[in-house]
Amino acid sequence: MASRLLVTHALPYANGSLHLGHLVESVQTDVFVRAMKAMGKECRFICADDTHGTPIEISAQKAGVPPEAFVERIHREHASDYQAFAIDFDLFYNTNSPENEQHVRRIFEALGADGAIEKRDVLQVYCGVDKRFLPDRYILGDCPVCGTKDQYGDSCENCGSTYEPTDLENARCAICGNTNLERRSSPHYFVKLSKYQDWLKRWTAEPGRLQPEIRNFVDKWLAEPLRDWDISRDAPYFGFRIPGEQDKYFYVWLDAPIGYLSSTDKWCRDHGRRVEEFWGKDADCDVLHFIGKDIVYHHTLFWPAMLHASGWKVPAHVHVHGMLTVEGAKMSKSRGTFLNARDYLEAGLDPEWLRYFYAANLGPSPSDIDLSLNELKNRVNGELLANVGNLANRALSLVWKNGGKLTTAAPSEVFTQARALEREIGELYGKCDTRAVVQKVLDFSSTANQRLQAQKPWEKLKSDRDAALSGLTLAVNVARLCARWLAPIVPRFAGGVEEQSGAKLSWGDFEPLQNAPIREPRPLVRKVEDAEIAKLASRFVAGAGVPAGPKAVVTPELTVDQFSRMDLRAGRVVAAERVPKKDKLLRLTIDLGEAQPRTIVSGVAQSYAPEELIGKVVCVVANLPPRDFGKELVSHGMVLYAIGGDREHTAIELPPDVKPGSRVN
Ligand SMILES: [Zn+2]
Ligand SMILES: [Zn+2]
Repeated sequence: MASRLLVTHALPYANGSLHLGHLVESVQTDVFVRAMKAMGKECRFICADDTHGTPIEISAQKAGVPPEAFVERIHREHASDYQAFAIDFDLFYNTNSPENEQHVRRIFEALGADGAIEKRDVLQVYCGVDKRFLPDRYILGDCPVCGTKDQYGDSCENCGSTYEPTDLENARCAICGNTNLERRSSPHYFVKLSKYQDWLKRWTAEPGRLQPEIRNFVDKWLAEPLRDWDISRDAPYFGFRIPGEQDKYFYVWLDAPIGYLSSTDKWCRDHGRRVEEFWGKDADCDVLHFIGKDIVYHHTLFWPAMLHASGWKVPAHVHVHGMLTVEGAKMSKSRGTFLNARDYLEAGLDPEWLRYFYAANLGPSPSDIDLSLNELKNRVNGELLANVGNLANRALSLVWKNGGKLTTAAPSEVFTQARALEREIGELYGKCDTRAVVQKVLDFSSTANQRLQAQKPWEKLKSDRDAALSGLTLAVNVARLCARWLAPIVPRFAGGVEEQSGAKLSWGDFEPLQNAPIREPRPLVRKVEDAEIAKLASRFVAGAGVPAGPKAVVTPELTVDQFSRMDLRAGRVVAAERVPKKDKLLRLTIDLGEAQPRTIVSGVAQSYAPEELIGKVVCVVANLPPRDFGKELVSHGMVLYAIGGDREHTAIELPPDVKPGSRVN
């Protein structure tokens, strides 16, 4: 790796709001950048609105404002949404900038000087009413293959055929409905991409350049001669005018990626730096692009060819993430499974919950991820709140109530383990394997919770105060380690641990924090409530809550090793009772074949009357950290239930002859 990193994510199109799919990419990239910065790298995160093209020109016209004003309004909205989700760009600029125009012209000239530009006539569809050439998306008609109505000019959504717009039957203008479309010829500029084909084959084959899944389909494109790329559009258009032309503009897909370079240039000019420090051919810098699957062609073929031809640095790595589904369905406005960033914020949900959920689900491969709102609730409440948050809060609160000062932390092997773990976590962040990062931190925190549970410092505070405070000091230190490892994902949570424990968190510091005062603890993360989830869900399935019933299971893969760490046991329910003032909870007393039966709390009071459960042999997860329900009600394990039968929860029952404590494998 070079000593400096320049990181970008795809430029959002300034024609609409950011949705939760955009945020998958933003969160993944932001987490990567924050992790690199935490580890001491110079890493700049540059982004911009992609502001040009026919859709924006037409939207602005419809809104009755100049396109510059239209994109300015969208820019303010995008910037505020990014800020709400703590996406920490060094610069969020736009592609309609003087810097971009300058770089676009230079790259166009360099391509020309390289003999890669060709001008030739193109026959296109023209609407005499709107007085404009119509791009494929602005022509509607019947598919020439299957006859399906209202298909776009380039491909049929029904049968998947691709064709020329002039092949459509009953073609009409999508803007004004004119069916009397003409065909007109106009000269266009083309980049002869095949000129760079051999170079692209070598570039894409270099190790680390592309993920293996992506390399596979790029190879397929490169196996055929690459088609020339039309980089010009006729007026009216919102973009940069092509030098020497009156009514011709650069196609938005030429100037958009150049926005990565020109926005870096803008940042450099504002900070007394030179763009060559990042993009110079020999700069000690790696350029990393994070993108979605839909724009791989542009980022692995067009863009590197342009940079190569014009003598700039080519990307070190193009990282592709999976697409987002919501409750198992593709995000679709017509199906009502579409959620904007604003919907999420307006429903009152905490942006850090989504950051945590995305990071906990994203791995290094481009597999799709599913946003299940129930899973979001369970993971935030069960992991961030009940595991790491609880460790920090419990330990800090006990220290606060008993002098407010940390003492000494033994044992030291915890810090030795932490050193090795931090190295692993750093490598995982480098590979964008945040799913594994989260798992490692949770495991480390669980162990500390178990240690605390075994030591019971809350009981010892009177009898052996030194031992109790030392155990708590260690727990606070472990919570601080976990917080710093999770900080790129949940910066506010980590900031809370830092603030309350009274000392800065810094990567690479393994000196225990000892003999130091702490500050008054307060909750680090709020619990996700069912009502909030239902409120957000109601925005995407009109009038309904989270869709009921079974759906395709889309959860990340578990290793055999991870699974085998789960201790499943048969348990006999010996007593069950309601919990006063908690109308969902049952307090179960369960015989697991141990010296004492355990107290386990289940949130199933709406599915079972207490006496219905007594005598049943159920399946119990026996090695979870204790979970505190307040008022001295602590659960030591979890009973498993199936969701969605006649009752909402149905206990997983084992035959009555299975002895309490038997392993379930
Ligand atoms: Zn068709
Ligand atoms: Zn028209």
